[in-house]
Amino acid sequence: MTIENVCVYCGSSNHIDESFHKSTIKIGTLLAKNNINIIYGGGHVGLMGLLADSALAAGGKVTGIIPRHLHDREVQHDHLTELHVVENMHERKKMMADCADAFLILPGGFGTLDETFEILTWKQLGLHNKPVIIYNEGNFWSPMITLIEHLIKNGFIPKDNSGFYTAIDSLDQIIPALTAPVSPAIDPSEKWS
Ligand code: AMP
Repeated sequence: MTIENVCVYCGSSNHIDESFHKSTIKIGTLLAKNNINIIYGGGHVGLMGLLADSALAAGGKVTGIIPRHLHDREVQHDHLTELHVVENMHERKKMMADCADAFLILPGGFGTLDETFEILTWKQLGLHNKPVIIYNEGNFWSPMITLIEHLIKNGFIPKDNSGFYTAIDSLDQIIPALTAPVSPAIDPSEKWS
């Protein structure tokens, strides 16, 4: 499968260990070198800023989509290929999802969790059938994956939904995972049958 635009969800915090910086910079560079455009939240802070800077430095195209209230607080990145200022978070998340061919989840906090679970929920409801790749280097996301497995085990998420995401733990898996063929969509009504 060919991927033109990948939506990357990642943390905006500046108060994180530097060990997180290195792989984010490598991922921004890797995506740019593979001619994959980045769609992201448009911030200059935390891993978001590092991702955008590294992709731009490697000649990549980066599109930011930021709600007006964050733009007014001047957390936007001012040197992106494109920056869209939208009215609210809902509009932003819809536009990010619509523009993307696939989703890549890097370490992050509440915002990243919200975006991850929203995009998985939309996949469950049949609103899209795009790849969702969880970058689990150093087992960062293992607690979240364990939680998802717990929900599946207890019947709150259908068993076959476990294929809605692919967890990977190294850089060399990113491009193959993003471009792998997606499984056929699952009828959302199975959730309630
Ligand atoms: P968090 O994981 O809580 O740091 O939130 C990161 C995610 O929420 C990003 O993927 C963004 O879409 C959004 N977000 C949170 N804070 C900002 C910010 N200062 N600027 C732009 N987007 C942000």
